[in-house]
Amino acid sequence: MPIRARLTVWYSAILAAILVALGLFVTLRVNADLMRRTDQALALTADELSTDFSTTGGENEFRDVADASLAGLPRDRSFAQLLSPAGAVEDWSGVGVARTIALSPNQLSAAGRGERRPGRISRSGQTYRTLAVRFPNDSAGQVLVVGTSLAEVNESTWRLIVWLLAACPLGLALAAVGGWWLAGASLRPVEQMTREAAEIEASRLSRRVPVPAAKDEIHRLAATLNSMLERLEASSEAQRRFVADASHELRTPLTAMRAEIDVSLRSRDLTDDAREALTSAADQVGGMTRTVEGLLTLASLDAGKLALFPETLDLRALAEGVAASLSILADEQGVRVRVEGPAAWVMADHDRMLQVLTNLLDNGIKYAGRNGTVRIETWMNGVEAGVVISDSGPGIPPGSLPHVFDRFYRSDPARSTGQGGSGLGLAIAKDIVAAHGGRIWAEGDTDGGSNLHVALRSVARSR
Ligand code: ADP
Repeated sequence: MPIRARLTVWYSAILAAILVALGLFVTLRVNADLMRRTDQALALTADELSTDFSTTGGENEFRDVADASLAGLPRDRSFAQLLSPAGAVEDWSGVGVARTIALSPNQLSAAGRGERRPGRISRSGQTYRTLAVRFPNDSAGQVLVVGTSLAEVNESTWRLIVWLLAACPLGLALAAVGGWWLAGASLRPVEQMTREAAEIEASRLSRRVPVPAAKDEIHRLAATLNSMLERLEASSEAQRRFVADASHELRTPLTAMRAEIDVSLRSRDLTDDAREALTSAADQVGGMTRTVEGLLTLASLDAGKLALFPETLDLRALAEGVAASLSILADEQGVRVRVEGPAAWVMADHDRMLQVLTNLLDNGIKYAGRNGTVRIETWMNGVEAGVVISDSGPGIPPGSLPHVFDRFYRSDPARSTGQGGSGLGLAIAKDIVAAHGGRIWAEGDTDGGSNLHVALRSVARSR
């Protein structure tokens, strides 16, 4: 689950728990308050009634006095009772139900002892709050009970619960939407940074993620990411410089070696063995020189220092030139090279594209096998122009397809070294094509062989 959803779920769950607890607390509190007020009203009524009844000295009927005293309570829901010490109703006033209401023996005896403990009685579907008091100057031990229905209290409490049940989910939903939005807003810089960081390739370590102005966690994350990129860039630059320096240092002695071997080979008094050894050494030095040249080219491509001089080029004409220059190699291998397709105009550096096509055709000829064929076909549409170099060789094993453009990758090391491959040809081709903003890819052919594709943005011939 994304952080945004997780945050919202947690936040909503905690808020829901708080709302439930708060709702419960408010309901209980309000109910207790209403109850306290009811008890106060009952106590007031009971006191007034007993005072009135005793001051009139029993001249008036209990009912008359009670009627007057009950005025402080909801008339149609309250009552007063005069109970005998045994708990029998001697007289009553208010709602008719008071005729039958009786205190429990416990309540009665508590009242008899002078305790003023509020009670609760349920009769005919109604709950009444009651207060039983002993008549102060009554030696006969009569008990006065005043009661009032709790319907109003219950109704108010229920109304509150209904309101809370309606308002809380609505509030919760609003808070969840707000939380979702807020989480999204605070995570947006992180998402943006992720996108930017994902776009930073090994070849473009000079790029940095944007650092927000506010000095918060996101600012620190961006700054940390950037300082890490800086270190990466420095170490990759050091590595590149090492490769470039080493290749550069190796180039001169290799050239000298090659020259010396060539001079030695010209000598007439060489034994056959010595000549063979020198020829093999010359081949090895040639291979090493190619590797060193390749490494130098890659180092300059990595540094973005390979100067490109783009011009309007016809890939077909270029392919014909490459085919002609490699014709000796092709003849040696007994490979037939065909160039087909229309003129394909692109804007590219002539020498670099020549290098790309040479590397690809060189591979094609090497892998096509004795008496094989290599076909170079150009194509062009309104957007792109390119070439496909197909050979009749064994093709690239599917497992190697994703790696053939990696440096020093060889799907069959034994075979490639024997053929003087450095494992850098396709890597160089890929980097040159990438520097032109083009695409290069390899495909297997259904009837064996491999297809190497290059596509660049096409231009009109007139340019
Ligand atoms: P190499 O100098 O070894 O040819 P490349 O970079 O040119 O190095 O090619 C890398 C690897 O890709 C080769 O070793 C080979 O395994 C494979 N490969 C390239 N071109 C072809 C092809 N036309 N047919 C089969 N395999 C190929």
